[in-house]
Amino acid sequence: MDLKNSAIGKASGPRIAPFVPMIMATKPSEHISLELQPDWHASNSEASGKFGSMNPHFPLYNRGMVASCFEDMKRYVDFSATDAELLAGLAEPLAERIPALVAEFYAILQRDPRAMAVFGGDTDQIDRLRESLGAWFSRLLGGEYGDAYYQKSLDIGHTHVRVNLPQYLMFTAMNVVRRSLLREVDGLDLHNGAAYRAALEKILDLELAIMNQSYHEDLMERLQTLESVRFEKRLDEARHLASLGELAASVAHEIKNPLAGISGALQVIRHGLAETHPHREVMDEALKQINRLDAAVKDLLIYARPKPPKRGPLDLVSLVQRVIMIVRRESGLGQVKITVDAEHDSIEMIGDEAQLQQVLMNVIINAAHACGRKGTVQCRIQRMGAGARLAIVDDGVGIDPDVLPRVWEPFFTTKAKGTGLGLSICHRIITAHGGTIALDSKPNEGTQVTIEFGDRKSGSAESEEATS
Ligand code: ADP
Ligand code: MG
Repeated sequence: MDLKNSAIGKASGPRIAPFVPMIMATKPSEHISLELQPDWHASNSEASGKFGSMNPHFPLYNRGMVASCFEDMKRYVDFSATDAELLAGLAEPLAERIPALVAEFYAILQRDPRAMAVFGGDTDQIDRLRESLGAWFSRLLGGEYGDAYYQKSLDIGHTHVRVNLPQYLMFTAMNVVRRSLLREVDGLDLHNGAAYRAALEKILDLELAIMNQSYHEDLMERLQTLESVRFEKRLDEARHLASLGELAASVAHEIKNPLAGISGALQVIRHGLAETHPHREVMDEALKQINRLDAAVKDLLIYARPKPPKRGPLDLVSLVQRVIMIVRRESGLGQVKITVDAEHDSIEMIGDEAQLQQVLMNVIINAAHACGRKGTVQCRIQRMGAGARLAIVDDGVGIDPDVLPRVWEPFFTTKAKGTGLGLSICHRIITAHGGTIALDSKPNEGTQVTIEFGDRKSGSAESEEATS
């Protein structure tokens, strides 16, 4: 069967992604050298968070990590006090050229109507932008490249993010600025022109790095907001489910005993009726409904108050055979054929027989129901090294891809008489046995439920983890 859609069991509730923390640098580093000092890494990795942990060498520079971030950047391009002096030395000779540079920049920008649209496009706005760019040129050659410089550039970057300036434009625009500034420096014909050019290249790259950083910060903040909204939502869902489960459990508990009483009483009355009495059929129907109610109540209790597995030796092959016998007897399955395909006469394992029987009952009944009145359910059992693998394959209606991820949710059912608890209980039981349960399905072709135990003799989740 070509099964394209697949869902791995996750009935134990939504996985809650940890909220991305705002991380502060613990130790701003002070080395001005291109070598990557060991303690540079150390101080940075302390600041690593959820995303940082994917790459332990780089911290997550969020807002507020001004000093360490800019220091790291400067160290990379080997930006020294000499560079600062050289740049300051350019301020005066280039001062009178700044208006021309600004004009040149906006002449190029105006060729791109989309870029102009981002900035508002009216002449007042353009005048203000010209002023800001002039101020930016002066700051670039201001000779002061400390925290205040970084913060100011970062603020400009955030403004770009706010007005939705495409990220590529910051690179292309910076290239325009770079070429005109280098041309101007060349035009000054300075004694050590190469050193001035190098200093300029460094500060322009730093500017780019800072602007890039502002986009990154913005993205991280959006992610954090998204994560926290999601987290809250899931927490609400979890709380809701927990209280629902508790409520359901207490109601189920209250129902259980009277139900047994009613069932007993009905059986006594039925027993007293003559074989041909017309009320016998009514009694039978009433008893059937009570059995259904009893099964639903049991499911609810198992779901809301799960018990740890009572482990003991069992034989998977005969367990499957026994379940099939019960299913055949009980659930009016019409022409559905249920077959066993076992590679061995017996497959011994350690586990809670009653719980595993419940899993198999649910999975096989689900498969049989999916087949309607006609179809085949195959139960394949095999050893897998020290473990075992069970596949329950049906050629029934299959599951819609939209619905597939939801089948593990408690109370999710597409059946008029379903409780929607079967698969969540199965998942919980198999997980407690250190196994996995997965479901592949294709609409109109069929479904395969695969249960795997890595270690048949362990019978628990803990020892599975210990050996993996
Ligand atoms: P219930 O059987 O009470 O509906 P389950 O948790 O056992 O609850 O199953 C949830 C849903 O998953 C079912 O209602 C059905 O839509 C779908 N499902 C489970 N197994 C199969 C299968 N073999 N084929 C098609 N659909 C299935
Ligand atoms: Mg079911």
